[in-house]
Amino acid sequence: MTCSRCRTKPVIKLPNSNISLCKTCFLKYFERKVRKTIRQYKLFKKGQHIGIAVSGGKDSITTLYVLNKITKPQRTTKLTAIAIDEGIKGYRDETLKFAKKVCKELKIPLETTSYKKEFGKTLDQILKKNDIKPCTVCGVFRRYLLNKLAQKLKLDIIATGHNLDDEAQSILMNQFKNNITASARLGPITGIKSDKKFIRRIKPLYFLTEKEIMTYAYLKNLATKYDECPYAKDSYRDEMRTLINNFDRKYPSSKHSIINSFIEILPLLKKNHKKTDINYCKSCGEPTSQEECKTCKLIREIK
Ligand code: SF4
Ligand SMILES: [Zn+2]
Ligand SMILES: [Zn+2]
Repeated sequence: MTCSRCRTKPVIKLPNSNISLCKTCFLKYFERKVRKTIRQYKLFKKGQHIGIAVSGGKDSITTLYVLNKITKPQRTTKLTAIAIDEGIKGYRDETLKFAKKVCKELKIPLETTSYKKEFGKTLDQILKKNDIKPCTVCGVFRRYLLNKLAQKLKLDIIATGHNLDDEAQSILMNQFKNNITASARLGPITGIKSDKKFIRRIKPLYFLTEKEIMTYAYLKNLATKYDECPYAKDSYRDEMRTLINNFDRKYPSSKHSIINSFIEILPLLKKNHKKTDINYCKSCGEPTSQEECKTCKLIREIK
């Protein structure tokens, strides 16, 4: 087997397009795909201040690395890495150490906040005392703090490391739970509309698979051995990941088909769910679609 573009030794086979690529051709393919997503979906404009949500895992670190490479020639675009320390002992402390190291090497400022600082408890402490699904509470708190930190830093947009696999899982999870409103918020640029207190999210790696990102991170030395949160096992998302991966192995391109068909109907979904107004939480003043935000409700519930 040889590289489909230059006939040298390949490092990856891409079953969706039925090609194999060598290291040089794959790195070019990967970065070209990110640039195309940014251009096609107008993810950001030159001169904006972009926050990159980094956890220290391969997806967020790759986003940081590639965005730095792409925006470096545009001297006016500013990057700041933002991190939330949930307080997951033996995992998040390690990945954040790695994020710190990469930010230092790339000379990108890193701003961090934590559950402990903002809510008085780490995720580990919350889970010890409450019979609650880790990812539910963690996801709500993380989104809340990222948005707050982004407002404080006056960021124009937040880039996350979400990839094609993550998005395919979210689409089917929403489908299985009959939550189409949540699907209307998905896509390469999220949020139904802009709001002065709600900082929109962009996903530059939207059309790249987990396998492609893993390969890129490995080739660029951007991967750590700590890439799986100990609480991820047995979550609803984890079950969906296994289901889709098994299906994709048997029927290649299934993941891409989920994304491609979703992208076609997304403008319609966004149009139909336009009326979901953003309110401001009666307790904390942060943006929410309800009277009170999920974070304030959870804080009251947990011991
Ligand atoms: S896997 Fe769940 S608990 Fe772990 S960091 Fe992600 S959302 Fe939080
Ligand atoms: Zn090649
Ligand atoms: Zn609130």
